[in-house]
Amino acid sequence: MFVTIGRVSLRLNGRQMAKGSSLAKKSEKKRPAYHRILLKLSGESLQGPQGFGIDGETIHAIAKELREVHKLGVQIAIMVGGGNIFRGARQKGFEIDRATGDYMGMLATVLNALALQDALEKVDVHTRVQSAIEMHQVCEPFIRRRSTRHLEKGRVVIFAAGTGNPYFSTDTAAALRAMEIKAHAILKATRVDGIYDADPEKVPGAKLFERITYLDVIQKGLAVMDSTAISLCMDNRMPILVFNMNTPGNIRRAVMGEKVGSTVTAE
Ligand code: UDP
Repeated sequence: MFVTIGRVSLRLNGRQMAKGSSLAKKSEKKRPAYHRILLKLSGESLQGPQGFGIDGETIHAIAKELREVHKLGVQIAIMVGGGNIFRGARQKGFEIDRATGDYMGMLATVLNALALQDALEKVDVHTRVQSAIEMHQVCEPFIRRRSTRHLEKGRVVIFAAGTGNPYFSTDTAAALRAMEIKAHAILKATRVDGIYDADPEKVPGAKLFERITYLDVIQKGLAVMDSTAISLCMDNRMPILVFNMNTPGNIRRAVMGEKVGSTVTAE
């Protein structure tokens, strides 16, 4: 049997053909289900056991997981939250004007973005930080075409400062940017295994939904992402994969299309 690669023809015997086809099958099996993802990382996921701020070991472990996903050839954009540093007007024991608090919250996400950039570059993953609030000395401004170009070149793009507007959340910013960069899915990393019918940390026996519709999430008031983010995803049919961040390898599993956590879609 002759096989032609470009201008070269090779003659293969039966065994070589069989080996070739089994290798082809293997590599087919290993192809990621999503080639461009937007990962939403809450500020909380960076804080580790200390319960606030940024934990070195935790952020290093996340960077290493992301490196594995990056090696699969997946284009990765990340929207990072800020709740580990400042929660805007929701900050406990701190009465502050809503917009001012929200701007402070957005600035907190920039700190996280820079920490994540440093952690990723330490494990040899090239990155760019793009902020929705301009700060030229620190990072790039968000420019949609520029972020897709970075992704095509294999750089991880970290989005900072949410949407740049108060009264929004980084969940909504994640949904917005996912649409803008034409991501194939939003990966929402949480501290529980997926979406439950009740808070699994408080209600023993709470039921996990493997699949659920956007409408059900909104109607049942399930705490996945805020309703603005969910309805944006619903209008644009953007799948959301919700999974436990504390289980090592979960980002990779989700990207490969393996059954992990919950999936939110239209049907
Ligand atoms: N924020 C905002 N506009 C945005 C994104 C975030 O005003 O587009 C503010 C808001 O105050 C929010 C804070 O930034 O509480 C931190 O973001 P978020 O709470 O979404 O972070 P997470 O809970 O994911 O860590």
